[in-house]
Amino acid sequence: MRLPQTGGCQCGKLRYEITQAPHMICTCHCTKCQRFTGSAFSIAMLVDAPAFHLTGEPRALLNTADSGRSVSRWVCPECASWICSAASTSPFRTVRAGTLDDTSWLRPTAHFWTRSKQPWVVLPNEQSHVCETQPDDLLAFFNSVRHLPV
Ligand SMILES: [Zn+2]
Ligand SMILES: [Zn+2]
Repeated sequence: MRLPQTGGCQCGKLRYEITQAPHMICTCHCTKCQRFTGSAFSIAMLVDAPAFHLTGEPRALLNTADSGRSVSRWVCPECASWICSAASTSPFRTVRAGTLDDTSWLRPTAHFWTRSKQPWVVLPNEQSHVCETQPDDLLAFFNSVRHLPV
């Protein structure tokens, strides 16, 4: 992947630049992501907050995640594209990977909430971390898998 990576919402009011490689790319098969996206799962990139540069004013929609944490979903006020999520205490931004201008390099290596995965979705078994729910301590989880080849 080349840096910076750029992306944005469907209408172009929100644009972003990512200046560091993401720590992890993961899919989320939780029932909320299925509803938010109207699809089978969402794809997220975990990016250090200071490496995520957003231009435009997102609307922050507060939501309680299945894990019980409060998470804001940042959406475009104009076209409602879901760009990013952020928990108030988190050092990361969870950027929705499908909003990148170039998605060709994405290879998710962790798969969360697979207990509600659609039965026809087949996960790659090489070097992936499959979690029925999601780790309680995401930061510890990222640190433990960070040094594995991706
Ligand atoms: Zn928009
Ligand atoms: Zn989810």
